[in-house]
Amino acid sequence: TNVNPAVAPTVPGNSDASRDVASYLHPYTNHATHEQTGPHIITGGDGIYVTDDSGHKLIEGMAGLWCTSLGFSEKRLVDAATKQLNILPYYHTFASKSTNPAIDLAEKLLEIAPVPMSKVFFANSGSEATDSAVKMVWYYHNAIGQPEKKKIISRKKGYHGVTVAAASMTGLPGNHKLFDLPIDRILHTETPHYWRDALPGEEEEDFATRLAEQLEDLIQAEGPETVGAFIAEPIMGAGGVIVPPRTYFEKIQEVLKRYDILFIADEVICGFGRTGRMFASETFRLKPDMITVAKQLSSAYLPISALFINEAIYQAVKKGSDEVGTFGHGFTYSGHPVAAAVALETLKIYEDDGIIEHVRSVMSPFQKRLKDLNKFDHVGETRGHGLIGAFELVSDKCAKTPFDPYGAAGKAVAAKCLEHGVILRALGDTVAFCPPLIITEDQIHTMFDAVEAALTEWHSSL
Ligand code: PMP
Repeated sequence: TNVNPAVAPTVPGNSDASRDVASYLHPYTNHATHEQTGPHIITGGDGIYVTDDSGHKLIEGMAGLWCTSLGFSEKRLVDAATKQLNILPYYHTFASKSTNPAIDLAEKLLEIAPVPMSKVFFANSGSEATDSAVKMVWYYHNAIGQPEKKKIISRKKGYHGVTVAAASMTGLPGNHKLFDLPIDRILHTETPHYWRDALPGEEEEDFATRLAEQLEDLIQAEGPETVGAFIAEPIMGAGGVIVPPRTYFEKIQEVLKRYDILFIADEVICGFGRTGRMFASETFRLKPDMITVAKQLSSAYLPISALFINEAIYQAVKKGSDEVGTFGHGFTYSGHPVAAAVALETLKIYEDDGIIEHVRSVMSPFQKRLKDLNKFDHVGETRGHGLIGAFELVSDKCAKTPFDPYGAAGKAVAAKCLEHGVILRALGDTVAFCPPLIITEDQIHTMFDAVEAALTEWHSSL
């Protein structure tokens, strides 16, 4: 059934495709090429599969955008939403108003938090959560009388979203060019990509030491009294699925501690089982002051995100409220009762169905099949952890030389995978996997068999 859904539709007269091109400004899309190719329209979902409007059944190897952990047909989430829609479809949580789903979800999140946390703030997207974290850093330092300690350090290739402050923290050129970003007070330190950036002969742990020293140099150069926070994804996602080298976070956290700098863990992709534990902060032994989550919080069935804050930050919020009145931050839909009910049910399913135990039972075959892709001449590196991974394409494997132009190979391979029935995502010449957490071992083999067939075809076409 998987006959070339990658072939561009011709965008004829009054088709859905032509109406799309005529009316819809897509997020993260090349609009010059979109006019020619038109959209790929997805019409249905079942388990780890989605169906498109040509009838192709495709494995969603990326769980949409790293988010549909429970696949595309979890009835319990539909029922939870329907039930709450019938009880109370909306109420806000401003000015001390509250709803039971928001209370229950906040309490549950604190119960499972990887480090002691004090309160949970709700928003609707990952960007809103990380943007809220930025405002918290500024508010906190003002409230405790350190108004100069405002700079935030993120990392080149880090991804934290697209609102003004979040996009500034994101360390990818496409998110800055033409947008007049980053804003000031946002700085970027080096990417922890051992395979790509280590010096000749440099051991993994020495590479980690060097990156921690570079961070310290940056803090020193800026003045430690001006640096308020550091933000990092435990595993970088959109920047190319970059797993931190051994001892990296241990050394980075030592530096942050030395200069009294807050640590924000952006668990928007890694949170809720992706790395084989509830939070990647457990996997990588992080001790964050704030944590952002979204995506798998509700298996993406409804938009909801959250920001955890620790007790010291909460005390600053209380102090600030005392001094200036209302804490002036929040969204119309913060703690939306239907989204909160769906998130709560998602967390229940993770427990009832043993989803994290399941991830642990299938992550070894997943990582092994991923590693096997190294047998291809143009696969330079495979990398991953838990149920997230990627392979990076290079023109010369020994010299690690990228293809020129960069990005075309990734795009071509992702298109070939689609022809073979698997949706993956090209991040430049890195091709990423992040399947629904419910994927079975058999489905993992089906997915990698298809990817190997795609890579074989692509290699012979070069
Ligand atoms: N942080 C991370 C780590 C992400 O991966 C993303 C989204 N890919 C975001 C933040 C932003 O989330 P959203 O697209 O929901 O705004």
